Amino acid sequence: MPPRAIPGRGGGAPGGAPGPPPPRGGGGAAPPRGPRPRRARRDGDDAVLELDGGDEVRGDVVVLATGRRPRTAGLGLEEAGVELRADGAVAVDDRCRAGDGLWAVGDVTGVAAFTHVAKYQGRVVADNILGRDRRARYEGVPRVVFGDPEIAAVGLTAAQAAERGIRTLAAEVDLPEVISRPWTYERDPRGHLGVLADADRDVLVGAWAVAPQAGEWIHLAALAVRAGVPVDTLLDQVAQFPTWTEGYLQALERLDR
Ligand SMILES: Cc1cc2nc3c(=O)[nH]c(=O)nc-3n(C[C@H](O)[C@H](O)[C@H](O)COP(=O)(O)OP(=O)(O)OC[C@H]3O[C@@H](n4cnc5c(N)ncnc54)[C@H](O)[C@@H]3O)c2cc1C
Repeated sequence: MPPRAIPGRGGGAPGGAPGPPPPRGGGGAAPPRGPRPRRARRDGDDAVLELDGGDEVRGDVVVLATGRRPRTAGLGLEEAGVELRADGAVAVDDRCRAGDGLWAVGDVTGVAAFTHVAKYQGRVVADNILGRDRRARYEGVPRVVFGDPEIAAVGLTAAQAAERGIRTLAAEVDLPEVISRPWTYERDPRGHLGVLADADRDVLVGAWAVAPQAGEWIHLAALAVRAGVPVDTLLDQVAQFPTWTEGYLQALERLDR
């Protein structure tokens, strides 16, 4: 049976970076809103969540997620002229400047709680301190769940694009059906990939993949989203056979342009 997942919240990480879509290919269990989970147990292959009121939710696994928040209280930051947001994050401008001669990078900025974002902001700050004017941009930041298989996504979801008034085209492929790599990589091939294009600008605005090593090859789409590469250019790529990357070409060709 393919992995089942509770559908994602779709809202995503702090700073507007959207979360990856749920894996395809399974029914999924709708997250109950209201009753509180009381206990989790195994029942054969099922993970069972017992809820207040006696109801149960069954799935393959129970995933527990928790949050983190900036610890900025009591440090005297306000006295140093640093503005704190309502959630405690240090307010920074697009150069990651928090005040005169003050800079902030990483989770404390509340932009997107990822190591790669913290490292990127560090490079932006270093350049600015060295006198090179550089501004941070957060389009095309990949986000990966390092499960088995990996779940990777970049850019907007269809719902987020709709909220911004972007007219989109979407296409999705079953990777074992359209490329060879799943068959050379696994005994039981699996994987899906989807692309989302801005129908008017004809550029990729989002992509996701659920497959082995998706956290590696999502970067092809990440660069395309970040750089606004035209879909025609992406369609003209020559991807090595047999690689996972070939899946992008297959999905892009299915866009109803
Ligand atoms: C379980 C888990 C898994 C994760 N997996 C990934 C992943 O796979 N990929 C990814 O990109 N990101 C991942 N992240 C997020 C990633 O860890 C953070 O985005 C990243 O560490 C942010 O770096 P940072 O330097 O801003 O903060 P941190 O790494 O949290 O460093 C902040 C440091 O400041 C210290 N500190 C806090 N308050 C004070 C104080 N008042 N005085 C002195 N020191 C203080 C803390 O102890 C800590 O050492 C994960 C996070 C968690 C919790």
